[in-house]
Amino acid sequence: MAKLSDSITVLKGIGPAKAKAFENLNIFTLRDLICHFPRGYEDRTRLVTIDKLEVDKPACFRAMVMNHPRTNHIRKGLDLTKVQVADHTARLNLTFFNNRYAGDALQYGKEYIFYGAVSGDFIGYNMTNPVFETLDSAPVTTRRVLPVYPLTAGLNNASVLKAVRQALAICDPPAEIIPEAVRRQYGILPAERAYYAIHEPGSMEEAELAKQRLVFEEFFVFSAGLSLLRASRAGKQTAPYENVELQSFYGALPFQLTGAQKRAIEEIRADVTKGAPMNRLVQGDVGSGKTMVAAAAAYLAAQNHRQAALMAPTEILAEQHYQSLSKLFEPLGLRVALLTGSMKEKEKRSIREAIALGMVDLAVGTHALLSGTTVFNDLGMVIADEQHRFGVAQRSKLSAKGADPHVLVMSATPIPRTLALIMYGDLDVSILDELPPGRQAVDTFLVGESYRARINAFIRKQVSEGHQCFVVCPAVEENEELGIKSAEVWAETLQKTVFPDLKVLLLHGQMKGTEKEAVMAAFASGAGDVLVATTVIEVGVDVPNATLMVIEDADRFGLSQLHQLRGRVGRGSSKSYCILTSHNRNAETLQRLKALCKTTDGFKIAEEDLKLRGPGDFFGSRQSGLPAFRVADLSYDLQTLKDAQAASAQWIDLSGTADTPEAIALRERIGDLFHRAEGTMN
Ligand code: ADP
Ligand code: MG
Repeated sequence: MAKLSDSITVLKGIGPAKAKAFENLNIFTLRDLICHFPRGYEDRTRLVTIDKLEVDKPACFRAMVMNHPRTNHIRKGLDLTKVQVADHTARLNLTFFNNRYAGDALQYGKEYIFYGAVSGDFIGYNMTNPVFETLDSAPVTTRRVLPVYPLTAGLNNASVLKAVRQALAICDPPAEIIPEAVRRQYGILPAERAYYAIHEPGSMEEAELAKQRLVFEEFFVFSAGLSLLRASRAGKQTAPYENVELQSFYGALPFQLTGAQKRAIEEIRADVTKGAPMNRLVQGDVGSGKTMVAAAAAYLAAQNHRQAALMAPTEILAEQHYQSLSKLFEPLGLRVALLTGSMKEKEKRSIREAIALGMVDLAVGTHALLSGTTVFNDLGMVIADEQHRFGVAQRSKLSAKGADPHVLVMSATPIPRTLALIMYGDLDVSILDELPPGRQAVDTFLVGESYRARINAFIRKQVSEGHQCFVVCPAVEENEELGIKSAEVWAETLQKTVFPDLKVLLLHGQMKGTEKEAVMAAFASGAGDVLVATTVIEVGVDVPNATLMVIEDADRFGLSQLHQLRGRVGRGSSKSYCILTSHNRNAETLQRLKALCKTTDGFKIAEEDLKLRGPGDFFGSRQSGLPAFRVADLSYDLQTLKDAQAASAQWIDLSGTADTPEAIALRERIGDLFHRAEGTMN
């Protein structure tokens, strides 16, 4: 018997070259091979008569060869073999291209099982290149459900099939990890049967059952992992905060908090008095006021002489948080510092010193805050803003910075519930489902190039009323090939030809950190009328005086991204607008963009986006922090996800520490999963 961890080169027929090809599919071991699941199946079980064959619908049929196959050499590289077959219902002409084997193998007067599709043309029915087997041979290419595998150069379906079949013959499939009681309750196949049946199903129904089991298994491992993580955190102790009075904090705010903000803050306040580290997610649509919730958390830490760190995904956003929070906190006697990667070394060093000495209450920054050289005196609260790209492993890295600090993760809402469960299943959740009063919905329009003059006039109108405008372009530099607008070129055009009398600013991700800050600060202070930018302004940027957002080539962006961008306007009390431009005439694209014009509900948009683009693309980034599922599809397998979550929670309660073979195997799998996640996160 071989082991799952053995290299696939133990299999017959897999030498160095084949092994290389398999490596391209990330297949190194027998386990990888057995977990290389088919992407679909061809049902070749149905046997029909020739008269029942339908055009372009491949099927199996049994027929007798009615003449000696004739091979004609048409030209160099093209041999045609023709033969006629028949059953009791009809005759059919078969044609094989460059298939000497067919000509030799098919014998006049003998019966075979064929599989192929007829094509109808004016000469009557014909079939090209069917596969065939003799009646007494074991079914390999006919009379079965044939798995169809993801392939790569140098590997065809038959060779993958053969390798998998061999692997299953010489080693046991992955061990059972789901207890029998759970399997019975949810009606799912045992591991062993599922791993065989996914590769060699007796019927389409069995293939489906096997798939369901494996989807369940993936979710089960992941949910159980999150539950264990949560349980291990729950065992941790931390000194409860004693000063949880927030009156002077509330008193310092320039506005009344919304009910939702108050609720979230209360939940945080309750967490920090419990004596265990908080792990909370605040989900709130753009503009729902998450920053103030973060501020309250930082304030609670400071009142208890613990330091807080607020991490933002971009320097612009870090800078902005620093501005608004130091304004809020300095009158209250809290010391706020900014630390970003692009600051001068000397400056960074002195700020790090202050942080290490405990002379900073709240450190605001980018991921530079996480780097090894930043040492906190007593870090008690870690807040990650807009970190929907954060994975489980990265969150545990955050906690490791202090002695089990409280962790608060903030994310713009539009994460469909399903994805939130997967990404944040180990967190408690507060939802900001209310916008500050006085907000008006942003009117959104989709227009083509013929509206250009009107768009420009509208920009001018907003500016003449004392407001500011964003113009977002998909690219930084000119790119002839794609024919999309670049921020650099478009900013120059607007400044020189369209609005010579207005002040046009440019902002993009390839600018230096200090330059970006300067531009952003200038625009925020009103020193610019139009800001032409790339998606660097996507997250968090807050300029309440901006009332118009023009998004050029809007079809280049995902819906959730467009929603985020649109969230940059409508943040003050004035009526705001969003104009999407697109040359794209594709009906589906237009429908997608129109969906955005119709609703401002981030949840609805997110669900729509998920449906259209799938979870992988959801955040417009491969680094979504989402685990890679092999069989499960988050947009379709919702019910299974829920079942697996319920089952794993139950399992943790009943036998999380038991030493049954299933429990041991499951803990091993969870270890692998998080280890793998950690490896890909950095
Ligand atoms: P987001 O949830 O997108 O991070 P912000 O925290 O940036 O939202 O808040 C958006 C804007 O709303 C900011 O200008 C902020 O000062 C303002 N704001 C936040 N809470 C309130 C409130 N309760 N009443 C009025 N304005 C608020
Ligand atoms: Mg924000």
